[in-house]
Amino acid sequence: MKAAVLYEVGKKLEIIDLKIDKPKDGEVLVDMKAAGVCASDHHVIHGQIPYPTPIVLGHENAGIVEEVGNNVFGIKPGDSVIMSFVSSCGQCKYCRTGLANHCSRHYSDPKVQHKLFDDTFRIHDNESTGIFQMNKLGGFAEKQVVPADSLLVIPKDVPPEVAALIGCCVTTGYGGIINLDNIKAGSTVAVFGCGGVGLNILEGAKSLNANKIIAVDIFEHKLEFAYKFGATHVINAKNEDPVEKIKEITGGGVDYSFDSFGSSQIMKQAVESLGRRGTASLVGLAHPKADVDLNMVDLVRNEKKIIGSFYGYASPLVTMKKIVDMYLTGKINIDGLIRKRFGLDEINEAFEDIDKGEDGRGVIVF
Ligand SMILES: [Zn+2]
Ligand SMILES: [Zn+2]
Repeated sequence: MKAAVLYEVGKKLEIIDLKIDKPKDGEVLVDMKAAGVCASDHHVIHGQIPYPTPIVLGHENAGIVEEVGNNVFGIKPGDSVIMSFVSSCGQCKYCRTGLANHCSRHYSDPKVQHKLFDDTFRIHDNESTGIFQMNKLGGFAEKQVVPADSLLVIPKDVPPEVAALIGCCVTTGYGGIINLDNIKAGSTVAVFGCGGVGLNILEGAKSLNANKIIAVDIFEHKLEFAYKFGATHVINAKNEDPVEKIKEITGGGVDYSFDSFGSSQIMKQAVESLGRRGTASLVGLAHPKADVDLNMVDLVRNEKKIIGSFYGYASPLVTMKKIVDMYLTGKINIDGLIRKRFGLDEINEAFEDIDKGEDGRGVIVF
């Protein structure tokens, strides 16, 4: 089967033929239909997220089940599936409290994070070198063997490109706002960064009947695009101070702000743009060594809250199921996120589009 492999950080992905094993106990062989091209894959290619190589990236995936291993229940060949990039074990404290995004087993051992749970590889190149699969997935390949626990079976009428995007950016962004506790209609919201995740936070704010929904970015075309996903106001942070402007628009600061990009400067602005008792949520992944310099008196006197939000701030498969149902009843715009479809052999071009800051999402289709 053909796959795009990252052999060395900073280099282009190589399209090569790989051998793939049969699914073992608790595993499923999936025939890939679509894989979104996400900034996290881009970060791995460029070394901002340190993952082992050689590796097949791609963690925003949808496909059709081809074969199931022993002890797999509720999933059969022919099922359409979305994949979670955190495979929940169902047994640990976090899984049992419904927080499968924090599964201890998935994160306990960095050695097996990008291999299957028995610490072995399922894909190999011609030299018989084992190839890692990003978070036990690896969607930039025609087929994958993945843990059954990472799969959500979905209705056939969800298009594969839409299903793929639900696997990462929609669940992270839309889930990251709708799963917050006590967010009320009429709230004011600011979203920093209008990439795939940021657009979904805007869409979530619209679903929750937020009042003023302010999009912040440095690209004018991305701000134009943000209006299609619910933005009521836009700020180009290159031309004006977003904190001052947000305070002006809202008369003192927003109730909720989101850093969908992940940087010290933006996180600081997200906190400073809050009104009293506001909540700043960090959704984007910053550099592992990044810190934020914040005014402590501002936090105390204004009772501000800061939270981190990972993979939709709840159990990913539960959020995904909710989003699939909302898509089928026409309550969420996911089709509009898809900007361009690429073949697997065009994958390096798809990543160049991320460098250029293009709108919406590129999707690899098989
Ligand atoms: Zn992603
Ligand atoms: Zn677990």
